[in-house]
Amino acid sequence: MAFTLPDLPYARSDLAPHISETTLEFHHGKHHQAYVNKANELLSGTAEESLSLEDVIQHARPAGGGLYNQVGQIWNHTFFWNSMKPGGGGQPSGDLASAIDSAFGSYDGFAEKFLASAVGNFGSGWTFLVQEGSDLKVENYANADTPIGLSQKPLLTIDVWEHAYYLDYQNRRPDFVKAFLDHLVNWDFAAQNFA
Ligand code: MN
Repeated sequence: MAFTLPDLPYARSDLAPHISETTLEFHHGKHHQAYVNKANELLSGTAEESLSLEDVIQHARPAGGGLYNQVGQIWNHTFFWNSMKPGGGGQPSGDLASAIDSAFGSYDGFAEKFLASAVGNFGSGWTFLVQEGSDLKVENYANADTPIGLSQKPLLTIDVWEHAYYLDYQNRRPDFVKAFLDHLVNWDFAAQNFA
């Protein structure tokens, strides 16, 4: 069963001005689509062809191989689109807010740590808020690596590959991460993953 490109959970113009329609045309329509196409090419006719995306990722570990790179990127991008919403950003509420306060001292402590990690994630990769046991952590994953199926349960992520922000922010990755935190994060999605 071939993988397909999932629709965005909003229109391509809905995240502007923080992420432009043009960026999403390329990032979702070209980059994410290319990972889907390449994974299907690599899986065609193999024993893993009928597996779920999560199972293919497990079979393809450790990170870094040709197939892993494609399927990790499919999963991470879909999770990233859902980690944002129009009119998002700001602070979480409820149990997730309490967990963030215990792990990072406060929402501001979390935001500072997330910004520093995402800005310091050298090269291409992903910065995740994850749950590990009862604790919350901010963790960097390199290239196409993903925590799905590991002991760190992903709650939300930001893509810090240059293709995620270069058209809108050029080299200003910190501005992109700040816009993500202030205007885009979908805390409802993170809370569902936490619950
Ligand atoms: Mn990307």
